[in-house]
Amino acid sequence: MLNVSEIQHFSTGDGPGIRTTVFLKGCNLHCPWCHNPETVSALPERLVYAQAGKVIVHGRFLPIEKIAEEVLEDKEFYGDDGGLTLSGGEPMLQSEEFSGLIDLLAEERVNTVIDTAACVPWERFVPLLGRIQVFLIDYKTADSEKYAKIVGGDREAVLNNISKLTERGENVRVRVPLIPWFNLSENDAEIMCGQLLGAGVKSVDLLPFHRLGSAKYAAMGKEYAYASTSPPGPDEILRIKNIYGQYFDCTVE
Ligand code: SF4
Repeated sequence: MLNVSEIQHFSTGDGPGIRTTVFLKGCNLHCPWCHNPETVSALPERLVYAQAGKVIVHGRFLPIEKIAEEVLEDKEFYGDDGGLTLSGGEPMLQSEEFSGLIDLLAEERVNTVIDTAACVPWERFVPLLGRIQVFLIDYKTADSEKYAKIVGGDREAVLNNISKLTERGENVRVRVPLIPWFNLSENDAEIMCGQLLGAGVKSVDLLPFHRLGSAKYAAMGKEYAYASTSPPGPDEILRIKNIYGQYFDCTVE
């Protein structure tokens, strides 16, 4: 059984091709800009959209066979590249539980992408080696203290996981969220580039901060720390992209 927040069909931003994204519940980090706040707690979350008169509950345990069935409904649209993406939350917290789902889909020649912050013990990755199409891994800052204090995790553990995955020939794309007040300095970007190069990374996607999650915080009755923060402007994004673009195959999503 997997603790699922939501299943999204026909996603185009969660890995190559057209994908079905299964958002899993529960995260071990607490990024204040998070745009999927309903996935952070492992407990069910009730979102009340008063104006639309809508209530949505995120969080239900589903058997992997049932999830596989829903993912396979879209098989004809996947082509060679598309497939399942496991996102969250932190999907790797349920790695033992989703292992069987990957096998069920592999039997039908549907591949799996994992979208993770990778702040979990390396042992969780070991059984997945050679079985994942792409690991999409968030790398948020070069600064261990800032990562521990603001995000709540161990930055070095993340970099070590990235390094071990690339050493073993796994397909890794790093995703760097561009977050005001957090990692938009050129200095941070330069140091992050050095760390990622050292970890064998070849591709980096930049994900500029947006406020699309605001409505979810309101629906949860929670305050959003980034409610009045403006997204980075095109000049700011280009300035950072020019730094990453010197070292990596770099896109802005
Ligand atoms: S790792 Fe992702 S899901 Fe978890 S708190 Fe941060 S942004 Fe949200």
